[in-house]
Parts: sequence; C-alpha cells; structure tokens
Amino acid sequence: MTNIMSSDEEDFAGFDDGALEHPTPEVLKSSKGNDVLVYSGYIFYQNRKPIDGKHYWECKGRSHGPNESKCAARLVTEKTSTGHKILSQTATKNHNHEFDPGHVVQMKYRTQLKRRAMEDTAGPAKVIRHASSPYPDSVHEQFNSAAQRKVIQRARSTNVPQEKEPVDLHTFEVPEKLQKSVNGDKFLLADVRDGSERALIFGTTDSLTRLAGAKY
Ligand SMILES: [Zn+2]
Repeated sequence: MTNIMSSDEEDFAGFDDGALEHPTPEVLKSSKGNDVLVYSGYIFYQNRKPIDGKHYWECKGRSHGPNESKCAARLVTEKTSTGHKILSQTATKNHNHEFDPGHVVQMKYRTQLKRRAMEDTAGPAKVIRHASSPYPDSVHEQFNSAAQRKVIQRARSTNVPQEKEPVDLHTFEVPEKLQKSVNGDKFLLADVRDGSERALIFGTTDSLTRLAGAKY
C-alpha cells in the first residue's frame, strides 16, 4: 500500500491503513448528480476535489448537526478502471449514527434508472418497469412517476452525442439535421468536390424555383 500522507493532507492524518477485507465501495449518483460513495451501508460525500486520482470522502453524518455530533468517518479511494479502491480509512467502524439502507437503495435505484434510460430507447413507462423489476415495490413507490420520468429525461438529454467540431473541409460531414429544412425538405442541395476544393450548396428547390421565376 502506498503512503498517501503528505503535508497538504494533514487533516487526513490519523488514518489506519484500512484492512482489505472490507466490502467494495460503490459509487452512486445523488439526486443532484454528484458522486456519492457507499461503503458498508453508509453514505460518503466528496469533501474536496480529487487530487492525482485520489478521492477524498467524508461521512454524510459529518454535514449534519452541531459539531460534537459530527461523524468522523472518512475514506480515501483511488479510482481504477473497475471502480474505487480504498487507500485508507478512518473511523469507518465508529460511525456515531445509524446507517441508512433505505437511502442507499433509493440511490441505487436512481442510478439503475439512469443507466437504463441511456441504454434503452424504450418509452419512460417501459424503462421504469425494467429498472424497477429487481426492486421491491416499496423502493420505486418512494419515487413518484413524475420524478422517475425526470430522471430518465435528464439522463437522456445529457447523453446526446456531441457533434464533432469540423477539422478540415474534406472530412467535414454535414450533420443530418442540417441537411433538411425545418419543413423536412432537402436543404443540402449539392456537395461538390473538385481536387482540393469543395462546395456545399444549401437551399430549397422551392426557393430556387422562385429565384428562376424572378424578373431581376
Ligand atoms: Zn458516519
């Protein structure tokens, strides 16, 4: 195990070097879309930006209540290709509060719903049915239908593949939606290549006809 302590990580001093027999930490998405780490049934939030691939987490119990009731549990993980690996942890066996399995299951469900929404092109009702099938009714009943549809909508709208910036004239492809007018008529009338030159002609046959009939 690497020694992760350095002078700028003083507030993380006091970690024991976490035993490796602990369950695997799992990263889920919060309702705000932030990464949340679930470990042994407890929820951890990132308390600073990741540095050199290391992620710093503090127990959700830390952000609630007055100082003396704040939970001291923290974790440092390293993001790997398969998930997060625990580098060190402190007080993760000494939470000063109960864990919240209901909340964890809810986040798992939301994460599952998002994944489904992105992989599956079916309508919302079907996506919800698929995503919720492994969960007891009590879980998805906590989300109303509108909330679930919102999760699906948001997941899909943020995952539309982005069109690439054109690099040069020859490899540039006119996106399909720009090849047609708003009425659905052909708008890219010609794509002519001649040696190193290329001409793209946009217009509608309608406007060309009008142009042909014009007096001046
Ligand atoms: Zn805690």
